Amino acid sequence: MREGVIAARIAAHAGDLAKGVPGAAEWDLEFSRLRQARDWEGQLRRCMDPRRARALRHERRAAHQEVCSMCGDLCVFKISDDVKARARKPG
Ligand code: SF4
Repeated sequence: MREGVIAARIAAHAGDLAKGVPGAAEWDLEFSRLRQARDWEGQLRRCMDPRRARALRHERRAAHQEVCSMCGDLCVFKISDDVKARARKPG
């Protein structure tokens, strides 16, 4: 039952995006910004199913807390931030 409700919410959001409903695209953009910032709490608060997302994150936690289990240490955002930090260091 719960999964059906979540699936319906996702489908409704896709419909809102297709129809250009105000706020729908902004939600996705904000979520992308949270992903880039690796703000896991922010993402968990705004996702469709925070309870399941939180459980999956806990279950599949990568070796480093700051990345997700998809790419682990190969996270493009982490690598990009590391490169920028190194470039800012003098010498
Ligand atoms: S680990 Fe991969 S999926 Fe996760 S935020 Fe980084 S690039 Fe995106």
